[in-house]
Parts: sequence; structure tokens; C-alpha cells
Amino acid sequence: MKTVVLKFGGTSVGSIDRIKKVCKIIASYKKKKYKVVVISSAMSGVTNELVNKSKAISNNFDLAEYDSLLSTGEQVSCALIAGRLKHIGFKSRSWLSWQLPITTEGNHSGARINKINIRELNKYIKNGGTPVVTGFQGINKNYRITTIGRSGSDATAIMVAKYIKAEECIIFTDVEGVYTTDPRQYKKAKKIKKIFYDEMLEMASLGSKVMQPTSIQDAKLNKIDINVKSSFVSKSGTLITNSKKSFSDQIITGISSTKNDAKITIVGVKDRPGVAASIFKPLSKNLINVDMVVQNISQNGKNTDLTFTIKSEDLKKTERLIRENKSISYKKLSFDRNVSKVSIIGVGMITTPGITYRMFQALALKKINILVISTSEIKISVLISAKHAKKAIASLHKEFKLD
Ligand code: ADP
Ligand code: ASP
Ligand code: MG
Repeated sequence: MKTVVLKFGGTSVGSIDRIKKVCKIIASYKKKKYKVVVISSAMSGVTNELVNKSKAISNNFDLAEYDSLLSTGEQVSCALIAGRLKHIGFKSRSWLSWQLPITTEGNHSGARINKINIRELNKYIKNGGTPVVTGFQGINKNYRITTIGRSGSDATAIMVAKYIKAEECIIFTDVEGVYTTDPRQYKKAKKIKKIFYDEMLEMASLGSKVMQPTSIQDAKLNKIDINVKSSFVSKSGTLITNSKKSFSDQIITGISSTKNDAKITIVGVKDRPGVAASIFKPLSKNLINVDMVVQNISQNGKNTDLTFTIKSEDLKKTERLIRENKSISYKKLSFDRNVSKVSIIGVGMITTPGITYRMFQALALKKINILVISTSEIKISVLISAKHAKKAIASLHKEFKLD
């Protein structure tokens, strides 16, 4: 008997009607004689509402309480799923993470699963039951509830699949799989049949929301193949894997873009060793993630300009930290909230020369100005004005024959 982990995202369990539909999907696996473990997200919108409530109480809401609050959404959806499964004749019950437990390490709101005790789950499955486990949450060594980062139910599903030694892990969502770019943004996006972990990890980290980046890291590390498919229509989805069998020969696999990046330029900083470190030290201490960085070559050997990007929500704090930083001097600070990072991703670029040129040329033909560039072995990212993002994606999608 095969064991399968079925994970349902927020939209898939977004209403009572949707939960009933999801239970039909679960039932179809039970009828095929699978052993099933269900992982669920909160009903769509619920976690955001909880975030807003925490902000209304305090602009400095305690992070341990934040996790305790945010984890409640999954309790509701899992109880409703288990209740519905019982209603249609299956043995089922819900499990909150601490009841197993799923233990985590690291900071509140961004913890990471380090162990799952599957004893109870195994016993229950052996007796024909279908456990429904809350995604997104765990407990730490002080028995406090933790959460593992937004969209974290993906990572819960992968880790449960690892510990339970599942043959399959299926992520059910509101699109048919992983597409060449967000299908809601660009109608000509195409469903990808198979994608390597490394490519998916880059796409996820560079803004393709369909999978959470940590979950892909966990899947790669533990060699767990992931199937991404729709809970709305019954169609084949996308396989995320390392297996090289029957991959297409596309050079570029996908295009990602970000929505909430901001660019900061510090004009006229001293061009001497240690300046960049002095600028970034307080940001790092305050857990502000700096992404792209460029420093111009100094014209006079004295002063230079430094540009970097951060998440828009960190802009105010970053501005304050720079202005309060007594260890640096500069002429001017400038900000741009309306930027977007557009990236092309594909392992094919390792062996194909000229990709950078083709990307830049395609953007130039559309008169799109590139503000910052960063590259790795399998991706090229450019920072551009957010108002050009759609146009850029369309022209790159066409240039690399993804249409
Ligand atoms: P869930 O609630 O099921 O976890 P998410 O909202 O986290 O679903 O992820 C699914 C969404 O990801 C889709 O609705 C789609 O708009 C977005 N998305 C962004 N990039 C891509 C992509 N390359 N392929 C598919 N979906 C994408
Ligand atoms: N409910 C959580 C969130 O909205 C976790 C998840 O959906 O995976 O981020
Ligand atoms: Mg998701």
C-alpha cells in the first residue's frame, strides 16, 4: 500500500463548499487504497486577517503571541476537513502540530521544522484512519507554538512526507501546476511538466509564489519528488524533481518577478574599505534582508554611490537606520518604491552562451531601462521600474520561446 501526503492550500479550502470538494479528492485516494496523510493551510484570507488584528493591537506585537495567533487558522480548516471526512464515512481526526509534536528551531515567525514524531500518525494510519495535520506550525523547545514563515504549509507537507516515508507528495493549489511565469499575470504562460529543484528554488525565491522556497530546499535535501496540481480541475500537474528523465531542452525554464521591492541609493559615500560593512551592519542586526547590491566605480577615488534593494515594508526602518548611522557620511539618500526584479531561470543557461545579451537586447528593444543586474549560474535578474514589469515578462517570454 502506497502512502501519499496530500497538501491543500488556502484557496483549495477557502469555503465550506471547497472543503467538501477537497474531501472528495481525499476520498478518491482512499478508494484507490492509498494510505493518506492530509496537510492543510488556513482558509484563504484567514491568516492575513489575523496579521491585521495583531497590527491593530500593537505595532510591535510580541512574536511568540503572533505565532500563537496565526496558527489558529489551520486548526479551523483541519477540524472542518476531518469532520467532513467522518461525515462521508471515513475514519479521520485532526492533529495540531504540538499534539504530534512537530518540533522547530529558530526564531518565531520564521522557525524551521527539525523533527516530526510520527508514532501516533503511523498507528492511526495502520488502523485505517486519515490524519489531517495543521500546516505552517510547530513547537519549540520551550513548548511555545511557532510558525515557519508565510506559505509554510508547503514545508510541513514535505517534512511529513520525509518522516512518514511517503511515496508521493502532492501539493494541491489553485492553478494547474508550475507555469513558465505567473499565469494570472500573463495569459500565454505555459504549464511546465517537469522542473529541477534548483530551478524551482530560484523561481520561488525570486517571486513565484506557487511554492514556498524553504519547502523546495527541504525536498531537494531529502530527495522528495513533489507533484503540484489543481484541486479545482483534475489534470496532470508539474513534477519537481532531480531526475533527468524526459526533460525538455528549453534553455530558460521560467520567469519570475517581484512586487514589493524598494531601491535605496546612497550618493557620495566615502570610497574606502569598510564603508559597505558599516552601512549594512545595522541592517543585518535588525534582520533587514538586503538583496541586490551595486557600488559604482569611484570617478575621483574619493566618493562613490551605493545602491541596494530591500523589501518595501522595510523601507522606513532602513531609512531611519541609515540616517541614524554616525559611522558613515554621504551627500544624499534617494529611494524608489516602485521597482520590480524580473528574473529568467534555467539550468540550460550553464551550457548556452549569449543568454545575458539576449535578455538585455529584448529589454532594450522595449526601451526598458535596467537599474541593477545580478546573476548566478542558473538565473539572471534585472531590477527595472515596476511599471515595465508586465512588458518585460511578455518580451522575455517571447524571446526565450516560452509562449
Ligand atoms: P496556495 O494557497 O494553494 O498555497 P498560493 O497562492 O500560495 O496557493 O500559490 C498559487 C499562486 O501562485 C497562483 O494562484 C499563481 O497566481 C501564483 N504563481 C506565481 N508564479 C507562478 C508560477 N510560475 N506558476 C504557477 N503559479 C504561480
Ligand atoms: N496559512 C499560512 C499563510 O497564509 C500558511 C500557508 O498557507 O501555507 O501563510
Ligand atoms: Mg502557497
